[in-house]
Amino acid sequence: MGIAEALRTVRERIEKASLRAGRNHEEIKLIAVTKTVEPDRILEALRLGQRIFGENRVQETRRKVKSYELRVKSERIKWHLIGTLQKNKAKHAVQLFDLIHTIDSIDLAEEVNKQVEKINKMQDVLVQVKLSEEETKHGISEKDLPVLLGKIRGLNNLKLKGLMAMPSFFEDSEKSRPYFRRLREIRDEAEKNGFILPELSMGMSNDFEVAIEEGATMVRIGTAIFANGS
Ligand SMILES: *Cc1c(COP(=O)(O)O)cnc(C)c1O
Repeated sequence: MGIAEALRTVRERIEKASLRAGRNHEEIKLIAVTKTVEPDRILEALRLGQRIFGENRVQETRRKVKSYELRVKSERIKWHLIGTLQKNKAKHAVQLFDLIHTIDSIDLAEEVNKQVEKINKMQDVLVQVKLSEEETKHGISEKDLPVLLGKIRGLNNLKLKGLMAMPSFFEDSEKSRPYFRRLREIRDEAEKNGFILPELSMGMSNDFEVAIEEGATMVRIGTAIFANGS
């Protein structure tokens, strides 16, 4: 399957899952995850109407944006950082990314705010939540989340848009459902306490339909779009 067909299939599956959940599919943003995907194939997806691309690493994104083709067209692309951000990369990250999904500590939030202030930008961010102890991935614990959200609210150049999670991988996507549901409940609780968190970034190639049924507004999909050669 080429990128065109893969992308069309993924979009159809998003529409069907939205329909099943009684949601409007236009509420759901598809983030094409392009870590390890080279610029020519990113450009192909761009030509097919894809606009938001997710990258894991700051350095890799810089290299791609600087590459000839992507530089000339980069103003049409929205880059999202979906991988862990180290504080010492915050300076470059705020120059590249429209949305950072992975704020998970007060230290990191403060550093990003400081760097973004220097370039006079408002930076959209999500807070990454760790939903289970098995997760080797990063993320703030549920217990510490309210303090972090409060802190971010006090930082002038960050605009908090919602929450992100990356539960462990399950072959059976139904096993991911309780985690996605939990993230939505955590969001709902935070909203009761006055935070406005419209975005839920959850769901990947293997489980995005379940995530949509549980309220995802952003799905991060790599393999299902780019896995099968060019
Ligand atoms: C790689 C990655 C994805 C996409 O995973 P696929 O299974 O290839 O769809 C989504 N989110 C994050 C944080 C990733 O690192």
